[in-house]
Amino acid sequence: MPPNSGWRQVPASAEMREHFGFPTMAHPDDARDWFEGLFGRQPFADEAVTYFRTLRLEVGTLDEPMGGGYWFGDRQLVMVRGTQDEAAVHELAHAWWERRRATERDGLMEVLRSMGAEPPAGFPRIAELAKVYCEGIKTQKDPSSPTGYWRGMLAEDNDHETFAGFCSGVMGDASQLPPQLRRFYKGFLRD
Ligand SMILES: [Zn+2]
Repeated sequence: MPPNSGWRQVPASAEMREHFGFPTMAHPDDARDWFEGLFGRQPFADEAVTYFRTLRLEVGTLDEPMGGGYWFGDRQLVMVRGTQDEAAVHELAHAWWERRRATERDGLMEVLRSMGAEPPAGFPRIAELAKVYCEGIKTQKDPSSPTGYWRGMLAEDNDHETFAGFCSGVMGDASQLPPQLRRFYKGFLRD
């Protein structure tokens, strides 16, 4: 389908082709314009936006609010399928965490563990996510898991998805993060 809102298409990058099967994607300038709009309407800190502007930013289609995206750390590439803010917030969280995780990952996983044992009072969304991240989902089959179901972020020691999942889970709203968790988002989300 041809673009109908004035944006331009270019041949898709190798990543876009491989992961989303798109033959075309939005022109880099149009993708960047869309991301600039996102930076304005989502609660990112200035420091984070400055960093995002240094990245390769790709959007498959600017016509549909489809979810789905990837962060390629080795290529400094944030790629989203469509214009769903939640997906872009999630991938940008991965991009931010990439530079922090070497020194902060153990601390984040320790906070996750403690929130799984004792849900943070007054932060219902994070309490709910922490429970799932710590206990997994027994009905979610995972053939690669020794238990046959998804065991959760803690068992998998998956700091990347923990950081990005909490962020998109509250759509970047730092006031919904308990203080022990919020400190990991300093510089990334507005206070
Ligand atoms: Zn993710």
